[in-house]
Amino acid sequence: MPDGKTKKAQHKNLIGGRWVAARSGKSFENRNPADSSDLVGTFPASAAEDVKDAVEAARLAFQTWRLTPAPKRAEILYRAGELLGQRKEEYAQDMTREMGKVLEETRGDVQEAMDTAFYMAGEGRRLFGQTTPSELQNKFAMSVRMPVGVCGMITPWNFPMAIPSWKLFPALVCGNTCVIKPAEDTPLSTYNLVQTLMDAGLPPGVANIVTGFGPEAGAPLVEHPDVDAISFTGSSEVGRMVGQTAAANFKPCSLEMGGKNAMILMDDANLELAIEGALWGAFGTTGQRCTATSRILLHKKIAKQFTAMLVERTERLRVGNGLVKGVQVGPQVNAQQIDTTERYVAIALAEGANLLTGGKRLKGRAHSNGHFFAPTIFSGVKPSMRIAQEEVFGPVVALLQFSSFEEAIGIANGISYGLSTSIYTRDVNRAYRAMRDLEAGITYVNAPTIGAEVHLPFGGVKQTGNGHREGGTGALDFYTTWKAVYVDYSDKLQRAQIDTGE
Ligand code: ADP
Repeated sequence: MPDGKTKKAQHKNLIGGRWVAARSGKSFENRNPADSSDLVGTFPASAAEDVKDAVEAARLAFQTWRLTPAPKRAEILYRAGELLGQRKEEYAQDMTREMGKVLEETRGDVQEAMDTAFYMAGEGRRLFGQTTPSELQNKFAMSVRMPVGVCGMITPWNFPMAIPSWKLFPALVCGNTCVIKPAEDTPLSTYNLVQTLMDAGLPPGVANIVTGFGPEAGAPLVEHPDVDAISFTGSSEVGRMVGQTAAANFKPCSLEMGGKNAMILMDDANLELAIEGALWGAFGTTGQRCTATSRILLHKKIAKQFTAMLVERTERLRVGNGLVKGVQVGPQVNAQQIDTTERYVAIALAEGANLLTGGKRLKGRAHSNGHFFAPTIFSGVKPSMRIAQEEVFGPVVALLQFSSFEEAIGIANGISYGLSTSIYTRDVNRAYRAMRDLEAGITYVNAPTIGAEVHLPFGGVKQTGNGHREGGTGALDFYTTWKAVYVDYSDKLQRAQIDTGE
């Protein structure tokens, strides 16, 4: 079959335009987290030898892809964006089946890939450099963007098409070739994305997929000497290892990791609006977003009222299989993730936080085959508690209280992460001060901590990342390297800094 899917959904790696099994012949299963009896497919359990093949294919393809005019590269991206639009529903269904979030959200995930395709296709006719006067006569000076080469990409499962698109599309329009290692929980969505690129006319070897587990298939990609840059999104623990390995080889490396994102509710906040934002921010994607609203900071004056409203609305959320109409919160992605959530509930209770609702696995008939956890709220949380400091990556939100704007900013900033933040207020002065003083890569005013748009920079400060940005023009900065070019048309040797004419 041309697309690597056999009738039994036994998927293969994509290397040099051919669908091939792992050299070892090993594979792993991808199961539906809402119903573990549903086998989504099997995928190659790849190792260093498969990564090597893929990197060689990408290196070979780089020789021609880098010479393909950027506007032509962009046309392929544009067609891919159009095809994604036609396939949106099918790909959203696949994504809900493989990682659980509800259909409305998986449609949004495909939409984000489409947005990125169109945005980056536009870059094919920009990729602007600069021209600038030379200090010497009859000499021309300019800077141009050059592709980096072969880019390795390691992606997580929570935005299984959007995040690969943030990496692949800018890399491709800039003239790079790629090897992507998707998360073991969500390889199918990466297949769908790359298949779409192939159908749109992407030449063989320009984008390659190697599936498998992190240490076996991800680490060799980071270590491979012929990979010129690495882009990683995932946990801080793995990100640190990836960054250290890349640094040892002087390899550019973009790391995008965790968050512990605060929503601040001032005493003049529109509480109805804030409730909608809190539910969406805390429990959307079952809390499994790096930008999830995991802390809500409440002004003492509105804390009691807001807390009661939030508990009441949270208890009405419908948790279940994301493919079922009316379900608002899907399962957690796998057994390990729900174990982590359960562990943090125990930690919060031991530290003295008050459990207001949730705090347990759901076991009813509709939930018996999946990793379902009740949306959970803790009140009485102190800034130093682990539940206020560490990322849970589950449907758990911590409520903290403050009495002044300054105190709220201090609590919001008092963590090791710096991804997203939000403030609800009608006071324009406070809004602007928050925009200035919150230590984060993203600040929302009167909206929750989630909702990034693809043409703005995405990333964080402190331990969230290492200073790179995805989305926006920051992505182009990562996937290109600047070259300065001087053209001397004077027909004589002119020496900068020396022939000053004095
Ligand atoms: P999460 O907790 O979101 O699963 P991880 O950091 O464990 O985050 O995984 C993110 C990505 O990193 C996945 O594709 C995973 O396979 C990969 N990964 C895990 N361990 C390693 C490793 N040692 N080297 C390279 N990649 C890894």
